[in-house]
Amino acid sequence: MEEKRFPIYRFWANWTQDNIDYKNGFSARVMYKEHQSDAELRVILEKMISGALEKDSVKGQNPKMVDSGFEFIEEESWCLRWFNHYTFNHFDTDEEAERSFNQFIYRKESQNLENGHYKHESSDSKKPFHCFMGAEDRWRWEVCRCEDCKGQGKITIDH
Ligand SMILES: [Zn+2]
Repeated sequence: MEEKRFPIYRFWANWTQDNIDYKNGFSARVMYKEHQSDAELRVILEKMISGALEKDSVKGQNPKMVDSGFEFIEEESWCLRWFNHYTFNHFDTDEEAERSFNQFIYRKESQNLENGHYKHESSDSKKPFHCFMGAEDRWRWEVCRCEDCKGQGKITIDH
């Protein structure tokens, strides 16, 4: 089966706030069906920032933005989140999804090596490194059954 790849972007923001000594912030990768324009990406970033600043842990703590931005990462078949990867569900079966994920993992392992890293760990190489968060262990894989994934037409493999 031919692999479907989708554009992945990263959004980030860092700020200081009165009740902590270190910087607070976020860094999130998001996959889209189509490429997004800079204007669209800026709107998404602003929404993420205002959402983050509305949280109880930040609200009223005088947050001052240090830096924020977005970048195009790559077109890929799966997108990394916190101990899972997801994509738009275009598979007929879970087995098909797992075959695609397997292909993706092999590709990322060899890219890490080509970029001067270890398979599953980064070195001091400046080239891109794909973090696996446990995805290299196939026994960890579990297809998520939650309503969020279904509702958004996504399929997530937890690991
Ligand atoms: Zn889910």
